[in-house]
Amino acid sequence: MLYDVIILGSGPAGLTAAIYTGRSRLSTLVLTGDALGGWVGLTDVVENYPGFPEGVKGPELIQSMQQQAERFGAKFELDTCTAVDFSQHPFRVQAYGGEFQARTVVIATGNSPRKLGVPGETEFTGRGVSYCATCDGFFYRGQEIAVIGGGTSAVQEALYLTRFAERVHLIHRRDCLRADAISQERAEQNDQISFIWDTVVSEIVGQQTVTGVRTLNLKTGQEELLPVSGVFVYIGSVPNTHLFEGSLQLNEWGAIVTNRAQHTNVPGVFAAGDVQEQILLQIATAVGSGARAAMEAEKFVAELEHRAYPERRGSFIVEDEEN
Ligand code: NAP
Repeated sequence: MLYDVIILGSGPAGLTAAIYTGRSRLSTLVLTGDALGGWVGLTDVVENYPGFPEGVKGPELIQSMQQQAERFGAKFELDTCTAVDFSQHPFRVQAYGGEFQARTVVIATGNSPRKLGVPGETEFTGRGVSYCATCDGFFYRGQEIAVIGGGTSAVQEALYLTRFAERVHLIHRRDCLRADAISQERAEQNDQISFIWDTVVSEIVGQQTVTGVRTLNLKTGQEELLPVSGVFVYIGSVPNTHLFEGSLQLNEWGAIVTNRAQHTNVPGVFAAGDVQEQILLQIATAVGSGARAAMEAEKFVAELEHRAYPERRGSFIVEDEEN
């Protein structure tokens, strides 16, 4: 099936692109990825997206965006892109459910949690190690857990986890947080959160499930075993671009390189949101880049049609002149 636009990913960037291309009457398919909404779909409350003075639940925001895109005709497939071929036009997009063709592609595949890379992390993932407080926090009611990282995600999720856990140890490799000021203030005022500064986790230990983390204080060299039953890792993210290695230009961190109009180095392929080079990883910026990518896709399709139907182009020009 040939679409004007195939959008890969269903976070705020992809959904915004779908709203815009749908409204432009382009046939639009969104391949959602594993779940609708990316990170935002797993976020408890979003407080800094304009228009919601009391904040908005992440899944609610995503659902509204999807409904808005569907209203303008965008189609959604709960499917994941497994391969792309940008060497021929129309482009080929392979998903588990079949192959699609597209005149343009908007890549909004977002990013994934960065891994710690210490012994025990892989072994205990799903058995005490988690990258999603919203998904797994409930399992740690009344328990003692660790959150690793010092950014906004780590601090916000540590705060969220205090709803369930009795104590949350926030382990950070430096002696000050990178998180936004309001999250820091809230965490400092929360009696259930204790900070372990200048410290890294060197191993996650356990038997059937996690029983603790081995920590190393980078200033004193002191090693300790901290007994916890859960470890939530929030140490940043890596762009989801492995499918595009070799076909698109990526930067040194693996993010897709675009110009200011979201063009990648392949004409007709655009990128938006956290998967591309971004200074700020925010919903507000993802939405802006999704809109830009969509408008550029629309221009690209319009130009293709002019090339494909020169006689139609002529008639448009005459009509324009008459008007
Ligand atoms: P981040 O800001 O990049 O913070 C990552 C944290 O992990 C930093 O504190 C970093 O330490 C630490 N870290 C990195 N690698 C590590 C390692 N190997 N071992 C131990 N610690 C490590 O990532 P983020 O918190 O995911 O936030 C990403 C972006 O999303 C930010 O722009 C943030 O503002 C935004 N965000 C926004 C919201 C919101 O607005 N609602 C919520 C969450 C995130 P250093 O500080 O020492 O570098």
